[in-house]
Amino acid sequence: MLGPPGVGKGTQGRRLAAEYGVALISTGEILREAVAHGTPLGLEARRQMEAGRLVDDTVMIGLVRERTAEQDARGGFVLDGFPRTVPQAEALDAMLAERGWGIDAVLHLEVSEDALVRRLQGRRECPVCKRAYNADGAPAADGRHCDDHPTTELQTRPDDREEAVRQRFAEYRAKTEPLVDYYRMTGRLRPVPGLGTVDGVFAALRREAARGLQAPRTA
Ligand code: AMP
Repeated sequence: MLGPPGVGKGTQGRRLAAEYGVALISTGEILREAVAHGTPLGLEARRQMEAGRLVDDTVMIGLVRERTAEQDARGGFVLDGFPRTVPQAEALDAMLAERGWGIDAVLHLEVSEDALVRRLQGRRECPVCKRAYNADGAPAADGRHCDDHPTTELQTRPDDREEAVRQRFAEYRAKTEPLVDYYRMTGRLRPVPGLGTVDGVFAALRREAARGLQAPRTA
């Protein structure tokens, strides 16, 4: 899944992984858990995350190399939030090639920055199951608690504060947007308009994912 902060990579990635029966690997979620547990990875990543900056490529590449080698990733996976830089994308291609694997489709969710800033400011997350809600489009039934964990209050992520949001967009434009060309040039880019209902966007994603699975792998 490729796209700017708040575009719906997490929500849609989760559905896509369930649809195909494969693992969802969300690097942001892995890092947030590491921060919550105070592990060495969490201690290293915390300051950069809260400032809306990217965590070091070397750290991220090592993390994804280990995570993709776990048992539940054998049948394939949806990557949410990785790669985010050209060196990460190159390292991903190299590590998958070593195992005889490859990327079938890079689903690029496209939405204007204004719409995304609005969406990020209404975003809330369940601290237990990580399900995302949004005051705008996908509110919780009572507006405050997770539908699946009715005693758990929804929370705002620290990096959804306005200053951090601006920094995350700057990082996206400078470091992640070049991946659009990287994947277009290797024939793997599948653009999907990201505005619309969650179901509508998901239907478009599935169509593009299916096309990617049918096409011969080019890299
Ligand atoms: P996300 O939930 O994908 O928006 O990620 C939250 C934060 O985790 C980002 O703003 C970064 O600080 C960090 N992060 C997640 N994935 C990566 C990555 N692939 N490379 C660098 N930093 C990352």
